[in-house]
Amino acid sequence: MSGIEQRLKATEGAMVDFLQKLIQIPSVRAEAAGPGAPFGENLRKALETVLAWGEQEGFRTRNVRGYAGHIEYGEGDATVGVLVHLDVVPAGEGWTYPPFAAVIEDGRIYGRGAVDDKGPTAAVLFALKALKDQGVPLRRKIRVIFGCDEESNWECMEEYFKVEPRPAMGFTPDADFPLVYSEKGMLAVALTGSLPAGDAPVCLEAVTGGMRRNIVPEYAEAVLGFTDPSLRESVRQKLQAAGEEIGHIQLEGAGDTLKIKATGRAAHASQPQLGENAIGRLVLALNSLELSGGPWEFIRLLAEDIGLTYDGSGLNIAANHPTAGPLTLNLGRIRKTDDEYLVELDLRYPPSVTGDELLGRLRERFAVVGLAVREQKHMPPHYVDPEHELVATLLETYRQLTGDNRPPLAIGGRTYATTLGTAVAFGPNFPGRSELAHQKDEYISLADLAICARIYARALATLAG
Ligand SMILES: [Zn+2]
Repeated sequence: MSGIEQRLKATEGAMVDFLQKLIQIPSVRAEAAGPGAPFGENLRKALETVLAWGEQEGFRTRNVRGYAGHIEYGEGDATVGVLVHLDVVPAGEGWTYPPFAAVIEDGRIYGRGAVDDKGPTAAVLFALKALKDQGVPLRRKIRVIFGCDEESNWECMEEYFKVEPRPAMGFTPDADFPLVYSEKGMLAVALTGSLPAGDAPVCLEAVTGGMRRNIVPEYAEAVLGFTDPSLRESVRQKLQAAGEEIGHIQLEGAGDTLKIKATGRAAHASQPQLGENAIGRLVLALNSLELSGGPWEFIRLLAEDIGLTYDGSGLNIAANHPTAGPLTLNLGRIRKTDDEYLVELDLRYPPSVTGDELLGRLRERFAVVGLAVREQKHMPPHYVDPEHELVATLLETYRQLTGDNRPPLAIGGRTYATTLGTAVAFGPNFPGRSELAHQKDEYISLADLAICARIYARALATLAG
């Protein structure tokens, strides 16, 4: 056993105590509580707690007005950054263990933040302490940066990097092992426009579906009205037949109207293949009526160019990349208010296209049916060359300590690594473990916590040593 590992073994109890103390601060983002507490009193306390620990251990520290802070060790011109976050999502319902008590049972610490991201925070800090205690010589500085707003808007990093330089390279222990070196770009757009019904015999009185653009919608519905009531029965029959073919379509309604309900299955927009799109089903059903005028051309476009597909091929925006993977698209939300329509799309794209190219093609396509395309949010792809020293070192460290040789990951989601520059996500979730972040009964096992600390210590010693 190396000196560093002996040191880690000796401080394991202290690391667990420290993690319990962090979990016991319910650091959910709240309203600002004055200067130095832009995200509320609990986040101020969480940040002050880790910085006080750093000072007591003899590290240099800085608090950037309560938005973020860091603990730094070593000398050298270049810096290796480790980005962690101290905020947590709300506990939610249904816990077996109180979410902020940090109960230890069967070798696991339970609590909100145990794995996302306080467990890895404790592991990284005790890894750094082991390096310092052992006097490991470093040629680069190591800086552990604490964000306080990862779960909401990443404002913390915006404020932090206004006054502090970006480290030359780094990692964030806020996703999966072995490591994530490629994240697709994210482009969120809103399609908006006024589409009056005109004198169509069947009118779309209401349409609504989806909660958030980054979730595959599990429910959508539309209400049809008839200027000629004798049409209602034939429309109902057509929808019935189409619904049987599409599946998960229900018809309802009395009098002059007809309601169409579509159900699907929710999934994250970065993995639309795991879901079933209720809006896609709804527009396919509506399009079976083969109506024209008013909003019906737009419904046809949504049905024929998107429908239940998610590769963008119908919209002529399909793209692929040998490592980053294919473009994906999620028809996330639809709303109608008076004659105003709003549709939100969430696109995840590989580095073989640009956000501007995609926007251009979408604008061209939707202008035909009278809708404008507005960019809501855009984050370009994040990609670190797998041959880069950073990726090679982290992967080698992980493989040596776990014996697991699987390849690194390319994903469609976004990790905190994006804010660091040349950085990858590195742990803390091991392959095959169930996803616990943001769930009830979130926990980290003491065994995983200890192996994380060993992996991070060796990775830092190699990157900075
Ligand atoms: Zn996280």
